[in-house]
Amino acid sequence: MNIKEIDKEYIAGTYKRFPVEIVSGKGSLVKDEAGKEYIDMGSGIGVTAFGIADDEWQKAVTKQLSEVQHTSNLYYTSPCALLAEMLCEKTGLKKVFFSNSGAEANECAIKAARKYGSEHKGEEYFEIITLVNSFHGRTITTLSATGQDKFHSLFTPMTPGFISVPAGDIDALKEAVSAHKASGIMMECIQGEGGVIALDSDYVKAAAALAKENDLVLIIDEVQSGNGRSGALYSYMNYGIEPDVVTTAKGLGGGLPIGATMLGEKVQDIFSFGDNGSTFGGNPVCCAGALSILGRIDDALLEEVRKKSEYIFSSFSGAPGIESVSGMGLMIGVKTAKPAADVVAQCIENGVLCLTAKDKVRLLPALNIPFDLLEKAVEIIKAAAEQ
Ligand SMILES: *Cc1c(COP(=O)(O)O)cnc(C)c1O
Repeated sequence: MNIKEIDKEYIAGTYKRFPVEIVSGKGSLVKDEAGKEYIDMGSGIGVTAFGIADDEWQKAVTKQLSEVQHTSNLYYTSPCALLAEMLCEKTGLKKVFFSNSGAEANECAIKAARKYGSEHKGEEYFEIITLVNSFHGRTITTLSATGQDKFHSLFTPMTPGFISVPAGDIDALKEAVSAHKASGIMMECIQGEGGVIALDSDYVKAAAALAKENDLVLIIDEVQSGNGRSGALYSYMNYGIEPDVVTTAKGLGGGLPIGATMLGEKVQDIFSFGDNGSTFGGNPVCCAGALSILGRIDDALLEEVRKKSEYIFSSFSGAPGIESVSGMGLMIGVKTAKPAADVVAQCIENGVLCLTAKDKVRLLPALNIPFDLLEKAVEIIKAAAEQ
């Protein structure tokens, strides 16, 4: 059997894979088993922030690998402490809990909000208000937080305590706040899986003000939109708000699993010994890689991300077969006249890997994708959308 056949035989049937086996790559180019080259416009769902086998990231990771690969959280390690320090210095948030994925980062945020509600308002204040069309993860509790019913039906009962209201409707949010015993509000400023939709700026500001007035923990899920993806270090920074909790994962590790829950002033001391934990969380190899990624997301890189974003928006807007372009930075949704899946399949034929989100073609290229590769990929996607 070849790898595709072995995979089909032995991997649980949760993934509908594209018909490509990736065997190697460098930067924004990857190669399949037959030696065919592709421009990578998905970066492993926004994970390989500086592309495949990035030299600096590789150096940081291999150095740490050769020193110590794991210690558990019973001991101190420098990459973990230094990464937490860098996250706090760059965001103004105060403390960090490390885990291994976006879902776990959100689980920790939910725990923080629930404990805050319980301690400051009463035990019954555990509800968290989320948005319709959101995506917060695949564990039962983060699925419960996810405002898309299609994810719920097979796995009921869901974790109680989540209410979702339509995004962009501040009256609905106000109503939910007064009707429920809430501890927090949780949202993505740019809904990713929901179709790459950036929330309206006035709405996000009003939601942040509402959280403040009602002493609710404002959780911003930056699992996909964070770490430079939006053209700011974290997407909430484009909105001028100050969240109480920020979660991130995907791009932070540059390709190794890591989740981070950053706690602001309001909840910085919410956790005591034993309130949360993770065997692998804060792993020194993952943290060393993340330090190399986060340390390079500076103003110059963010400016480059915004320029590439403008280029993508202007290339697609009004092009034949393109109905609309949405998103922010290098987190982009392209609504095509043809079904998105057909466009993506055509792109694979022609040497470009892209993603879908709902009915859109989704683009999450590496932040440092060279301009010539970006141009080439955009032309191939446009041609696929037009045919
Ligand atoms: C991907 C994603 C998650 C889940 O992350 P995992 O690492 O797959 O658990 C949560 N929230 C958002 C916004 C995401 O895009």
